[in-house]
Amino acid sequence: MNNETYQRIDAITARVLAGETMTAGEGRWMIRLEDDYLPWLMAGADRIRKTFRGDEIEVCAISNVRSGNCSENCSFCAQSGHYKTAAPVYNYIPAEKLVEQAERARAWGASDFGVVSKGWGVRSTKEREQLREYFTALRDHSDIGRCASLGALDQETAVMLKAMGMENYHHNLECAESFFDQVCTTHTYQENIDTIRHARDAGLRVCAGGILGMGESLDQRVDLALTLRELGVESVPLNFLNPQGGTPFGDCEPMQPLDILKAIAVFRYLLPKAEIRIAGGRQFLGDLQAMIFMAGASGVMIGDYLTTQGRQVEDDLKMLEALKLRPRGDTQQRRAQQVQEHKIVWT
Ligand code: SF4
Repeated sequence: MNNETYQRIDAITARVLAGETMTAGEGRWMIRLEDDYLPWLMAGADRIRKTFRGDEIEVCAISNVRSGNCSENCSFCAQSGHYKTAAPVYNYIPAEKLVEQAERARAWGASDFGVVSKGWGVRSTKEREQLREYFTALRDHSDIGRCASLGALDQETAVMLKAMGMENYHHNLECAESFFDQVCTTHTYQENIDTIRHARDAGLRVCAGGILGMGESLDQRVDLALTLRELGVESVPLNFLNPQGGTPFGDCEPMQPLDILKAIAVFRYLLPKAEIRIAGGRQFLGDLQAMIFMAGASGVMIGDYLTTQGRQVEDDLKMLEALKLRPRGDTQQRRAQQVQEHKIVWT
């Protein structure tokens, strides 16, 4: 271990806290730091999180409303119709069940609830009508923030979904552009970027991140964060590959806990003001799960993920309590007010 490395971390931390931007080269240096420096790096990331995101944690949950047999060939996804997997296949769940799930998530402290459907966009009248029913039911029965993840959007569809009552749109870039051809060939990276722009132009809050541990290089992890920064994404979900049998990435080795923490910290340095929320794959942290917040995460997805089970919600809530972190727990409207009052800014 050498003093210069600690000093360089400190100098970058001071600059980021002062509102300056960390360079791509610094990000590439940081993600290669030896594990010995991780506690120091996390201490800096924790200060950045506290400064720009405060001491509350944003909790969200999702419902997989339609599963399996998807037209796309995402190599990590058990729902793709291109692979033989054990993922359940079902059509839209009833709106009453969705509301029940949303209310349960709200009671856990979740501020946002995602309607997630397999597939690549909203294509038919039937799909539009189903989504209208969902958003109407959620608005009538719950004050939880309404999100969705439905694949690619054009401008017209984004505007239509906003008019239906959707507030946030989730659409992951998944990885750096230079790695995307390993992940998917049925749609393009540009379609992902266009979708994010259309959602933003329609006045929706955008939630976009990716999955780490798919075989990408360390530089490509940094590149993903840089692209999200260029796009001004406000909310960044980070997943860590949970290899699914039958998919092309089914034999990948899960990421090591210290590598996960280092990646979270580097994302916090590169995206100081973003809501960095940890989602699928955090079980690979094992006993170190609580450290995601000390590494700079400011949000967490609770409950089950799309095709994999999450941790017991009670355990997650106990973890937040032990860390003296409170779920933000407020909806979009109240949060907007809080942002103003506390001068917390989105990127
Ligand atoms: S990630 Fe989405 S678009 Fe890709 S295969 Fe899975 S459900 Fe389909």
